Amino acid sequence: MTTMQSNPPTGAADKKTPHDSETSAAHTRGERRHEPSIFEKSSPGARAVGLPELDIEPTAIPADLAAPAPRLPELGMLQVIRHYTHLSQRNFSIDGEFYPLGSCTMKFNPRINEWAATLPGFTGAHPLQDDRDIQGTLRIMYETRRMLEEIAGLHEASLQPAAGAHGEYTALKVIRAYFRSKGETQRTKVLAPANAHGTNPASCAMCGAEAITVKAPEGYTDLDDLKRIIEQEGPDTIMAFMITNPNTAGLFDGMIGEVADIIHDAGALLYLDGANMNAILGKTRPGDFGADAMHYNTHKTFSTPHGGGGPGAGPIVVRDFLAPFLPVPQVVQQKDGAFALDYNRPHSIGKVRSFFGQFGVLLRCWTYIRACGAEGLENVSELAVLSANYLAARLQNRYEMPFFNPEKGRYAAHEFVTVPETLLNKGVTLNDIAKRLIDYGIHPPTMHWPVRNCLMVEPTETESLRTLDEFVDAMLAIADQIESDPESLAKAPQHAVVDRVDIVGADRKPTPVFEG
Ligand SMILES: *Cc1c(COP(=O)(O)O)cnc(C)c1O
Repeated sequence: MTTMQSNPPTGAADKKTPHDSETSAAHTRGERRHEPSIFEKSSPGARAVGLPELDIEPTAIPADLAAPAPRLPELGMLQVIRHYTHLSQRNFSIDGEFYPLGSCTMKFNPRINEWAATLPGFTGAHPLQDDRDIQGTLRIMYETRRMLEEIAGLHEASLQPAAGAHGEYTALKVIRAYFRSKGETQRTKVLAPANAHGTNPASCAMCGAEAITVKAPEGYTDLDDLKRIIEQEGPDTIMAFMITNPNTAGLFDGMIGEVADIIHDAGALLYLDGANMNAILGKTRPGDFGADAMHYNTHKTFSTPHGGGGPGAGPIVVRDFLAPFLPVPQVVQQKDGAFALDYNRPHSIGKVRSFFGQFGVLLRCWTYIRACGAEGLENVSELAVLSANYLAARLQNRYEMPFFNPEKGRYAAHEFVTVPETLLNKGVTLNDIAKRLIDYGIHPPTMHWPVRNCLMVEPTETESLRTLDEFVDAMLAIADQIESDPESLAKAPQHAVVDRVDIVGADRKPTPVFEG
């Protein structure tokens, strides 16, 4: 057992210790102990299931087909359940802790979503059933489509893409098909500002387009650099400009209308990365500020548990002239009111996903939007923005904020970025700060993106004022600790079930359990 008490936080914010946190979870409370692997727990002969007696003549497996028996752990059912339950409790999760992971929108996932998504009428439907037998499922898809179109201020949605990145890829394919139909095959370049998410240039590459970076020194797209690049590359080679707005610096780009004009003057299209829609729901619509196509990350904005890489949904919405190129099938409502899947789209780019998309995630999205209602969605964005600005304002004296400056009218959108230079100059690393936050039962914010040495904090609208204050207290206590005893941070986390992981060692010399 490791000693639990060392380096108590010092200074003014001393009132809270890591263990007072409202969100402090089992894994930060528990003593640090060795959790045997499931192989170590194995006892020969133990079984979790019983099979009926063999009542036929046994036959040996032919020698040429027989593989050596795999070395599998042998345990009873209760042992297996306890093993995995313990493991799950050692994870960070939104249900257990504050999770201010910038750009990822780790908001609370209302349980009504799960209720809807597990209704047997939906879970029992088969994608190959006749349209007439799955009217309820198709209706959910159709209504989701219509709501997403309205929130976007754009013409037609496709629900097929399985994640935001997949939506980017699909929309770029649609845009390229549109230009090809006009004979403009030379439009192969896609611009994106320097603070773009890594998936933006990656999606370009997947589509065979060339990604070009536009400067964004103050957090906003540099319009002169944008014009210069368009001139230099030739306006008629530009396919699209991909922008996230509000962007990853946590700023809403008020010049977006001008950006749209510059792009449209070049004959190119404006693509909105909708990952940050949580800040603008019902306040402004991408279609109204000039976007021609966009994706949603419904698992972010419209709440689906999405830690660990899935599942998600990345529906896209486009302007009318792009609609003929959307993937098939499209869910439609016929004149008689019935819902159907329409494959009759001769210009479609085809399918981008088996069947119709991530229906279970779309169903959660439908439920969330319907539960909030139009006013509720606006309220979501107002609270998300208020929470981020509250945190930024309370922390800015100790944690420098390159883009947040209320005196210049630069407020945060739903997230903010800090580059804590003064603290880092005391000899600690950004990692030290992040790891110490774990001791307070808080998931570290996004790191080193969109700029080096930054933390990107997104509280979301679902956190209580008490939790926000606890976060501020923790951040201030860490700042005090750095001022008084910077070396002590190198040992963080000290109250978690695992020590600081040797990332390089884990990468270079992995020790897989299943060996020998
Ligand atoms: C999350 C995110 C993406 C990628 O979305 P996925 O759903 O994870 O594929 C793209 N852009 C931004 C700004 C994001 O935050």
